[in-house]
Amino acid sequence: MSNAATLPGSPSERLRQLLNWRNSVAWLVLVFTLLVQLVILQHLRSHEARTAATQFEFAVEKTTEAINKRLIEHEQILFGAAGLFETSGLVSREQWHQYNKRLQLIERYPGIQGVGFAQAVLPQQRDDHVRAVREEGFADYDIHPAGARPLYIPIVYLEPFTDRNLAAFGYDMFSEPVRHHAMATAAQTGQTRLTGKVTLRQETHGEVQAGLLMYVPVYRQSAPLHSAEQRMEALLGFVYSPYRVGDLMRGILGAADPALSLRIYAGPNEDSDALIFSSRSQPRDAAPLYGQTLRMQLYGQTWTLRLESLPEFEAFFHGNDALVIGLGLGLSLLLFFLISSLSLRRSRAEALAQQMTEHIRENKRALQLSEERLSLAFKGSNDGFWDLNLEAQTLYASPRAWHMLGYQPGELSSDLKLWERVLAADDLQQAKAQLAQTMLSAVDHFTTELRFQHKSGKLVPMLVRGYIQRDRNGQALRISGTSMDLTEHKRIEQMKDEFVSTVSHELRTPLTSISGALGLITGGVMGTIPAAMQQMLEIAHRNSLRLGHLINDLLDMEKIAAGKMAFDMREHSLRRLLEEALSSNQALAVHLGVNCTLRTPPEAHVWVDALRLQQVLSNFISNAIKYTPEGGEVTLHCELVGDHVRINVSDQGPGIPLDFQSRVFEKFAQADASDSRQKGGSGLGLAISKEFIERMGGRVGFESRAGQGTTFWCELPLLEPQSAPLTESDALRLLVVEDEPDTGRLLLLMLRDAGYEVERVQSLHAAREKLASKRYQAMTLDMHLPDGSGRELIDEIRSNAATRDMPIIVVSAASRFESREQDAGITWLHKPINAAQLLIALTDALAGRR
Ligand code: ADP
Repeated sequence: MSNAATLPGSPSERLRQLLNWRNSVAWLVLVFTLLVQLVILQHLRSHEARTAATQFEFAVEKTTEAINKRLIEHEQILFGAAGLFETSGLVSREQWHQYNKRLQLIERYPGIQGVGFAQAVLPQQRDDHVRAVREEGFADYDIHPAGARPLYIPIVYLEPFTDRNLAAFGYDMFSEPVRHHAMATAAQTGQTRLTGKVTLRQETHGEVQAGLLMYVPVYRQSAPLHSAEQRMEALLGFVYSPYRVGDLMRGILGAADPALSLRIYAGPNEDSDALIFSSRSQPRDAAPLYGQTLRMQLYGQTWTLRLESLPEFEAFFHGNDALVIGLGLGLSLLLFFLISSLSLRRSRAEALAQQMTEHIRENKRALQLSEERLSLAFKGSNDGFWDLNLEAQTLYASPRAWHMLGYQPGELSSDLKLWERVLAADDLQQAKAQLAQTMLSAVDHFTTELRFQHKSGKLVPMLVRGYIQRDRNGQALRISGTSMDLTEHKRIEQMKDEFVSTVSHELRTPLTSISGALGLITGGVMGTIPAAMQQMLEIAHRNSLRLGHLINDLLDMEKIAAGKMAFDMREHSLRRLLEEALSSNQALAVHLGVNCTLRTPPEAHVWVDALRLQQVLSNFISNAIKYTPEGGEVTLHCELVGDHVRINVSDQGPGIPLDFQSRVFEKFAQADASDSRQKGGSGLGLAISKEFIERMGGRVGFESRAGQGTTFWCELPLLEPQSAPLTESDALRLLVVEDEPDTGRLLLLMLRDAGYEVERVQSLHAAREKLASKRYQAMTLDMHLPDGSGRELIDEIRSNAATRDMPIIVVSAASRFESREQDAGITWLHKPINAAQLLIALTDALAGRR
């Protein structure tokens, strides 16, 4: 239960659950995945660093190679120009122009400022030189800077001869120390030389860039060039190219990797004065990840190159770190929460399972307790318990239920049909029919007495109570209930009945003598006796008669209970019966001063045992007379209710008290205990009346209002009015022999509706009379009739030539005791029957006869 409270919760509760030891697997996984990520990241980084370094080195190589290559190309250009001088001796300004035009310098070699020729002029040649150039049309030409120097090397030709280049025309490069150094070395060695950092003469406007010059010495033809002096001697001048380093490098690096920064120092150190080129003017905030300083030997110069990676370069290789870390962390956390959720869910499920187990345990305990109580209750009641599951087709019976029949549990195979095997064979059909009827009805409880076959062979009477479980359509699914052994109960009842019967019989004989003798004495047969004695003897006589009545009632009751009472059912005129009943009570009425009248009864016939009906009517009438005050009136009147007649006996007595009304028809019931003394009576009369009337197919009842008298009534089925005798025609006339009023009526209606002419009787005796007087095409027969078995009638019919072939439809609730039946003319139908069944059987039977 406590776990249930800690299931889903607030954020803090969730946090607590995450930190719970149950979640340790998730934590372990988190730590492990983070470690794995760290290793992977490390590996990735070193791999990236290696790639980046390789890439950087490659870029460096590419850059230096590009610079080298371009300078060699420039040298080649100058070599070409030098070759021009060496082959033709002196080159004219026009030739120079043509040569350079052909080279397409500006388009092909970005960064080159031009290609020029500077002529070596000795002081003694100076004037001639200036004059000669001026004569070419350059009137302002002069060697500058001015001043006397041992050797002048002024710029004579410079192509393209436009723009910035014009400023350099006539400039003596030998006068400037940096140029001087490069020129002198070039001239002396006969090799191409580069200057250090200079400012070009061309820097006349705009941004000033560092400048460089490349010199290729040109010597006079055929002069000896073996030593430095000879070379200086033979020097004609220099072909050269001035470069603005910024432009030159941009031209070279245009195609190179832009992700690197490059600084070039014209010298062996990274000396800021010597800086001739920088690809990046803005200084970087952070130190670069990759950097390299290298030195290049170029035409007599040592250059220091500083290459550094740019952020773009670094980002290209290391930019994924954040992504990798982010993704990794995300995945780890996802895994962590996933496992947490799984393990927490599992622990939640465990908590739930525990809770459910607890619940089940509690239920089990409660069930055990309830079973214990139930079994104790059954033990206490000594009843058996059984359960028929119609769906599962199983039967369960408790050990006690088995013991009642002398079996051990499991001794007989328990299937659904078992109960039929252990039921008394004689009762089986009736019990089955009864059960079928109960199942088809809407009833859900039943109580019935059945006889079962004990293992020893004796019959065990049992009170069976059941409950029927039904589905929504009313179909029975399960029948469960109890069985109570009635053997002892029956035995005691029988003893009691026998006792009553014996005592009553033994009393009746002497009592008859006593009341006979007293009657004779009080009637004066023995002569007159003193008045005082006469009175006493009359009391004795009256009471002996009363005692006789009581004994008769007791005997009747006992006979009814034992089922020994036979009814002699016959057709009687209602009027005659009522007149008789009235006249036999007339004396009592007169005696008590009550007026008794019979209102004109209807002309009707009833099928009754006249003696028993007289007994009933007498009881009603005598009660009415007894309870009606002197001078009052008792009325007998009849009314027809459907196919019944109701006989009413109304009085003007005090009525029946409300609290007694429900018990009026019970044995020994009297509204007032003093009644027996005041009115004389046993309280058995009405109970016996009810029993008699019901046996004759009727019912009893009463209406009473306090102070306004009572009406007792009994209803009896009317006999069908006799139809006129029919001629022997082919009319389909049928006879229905059925004592049970409802079934009889039903059969009559069904057959009449189908167009047959039908007559109905309720006894063997009446059937015999009918069969003797008329011819019937077929008959229906109930085997259990008040005056005997249907079997007798069948035998009679078959032995009579006139009726031998008549089809008989037996409508019975009884077993098919004639299983040996060979008679093809007999069709068996079992109650309850329906119209279709009946008519089909009848049509078949009639067709078979023809
Ligand atoms: P009893 O032999 O005592 O008359 P019954 O069975 O005939 O026995 O009647 C039972 C009881 O019903 C009577 O004792 C009486 O209390 C009541 N009872 C019967 N008939 C009447 C009636 N007509 N008016 C009032 N009470 C009656």
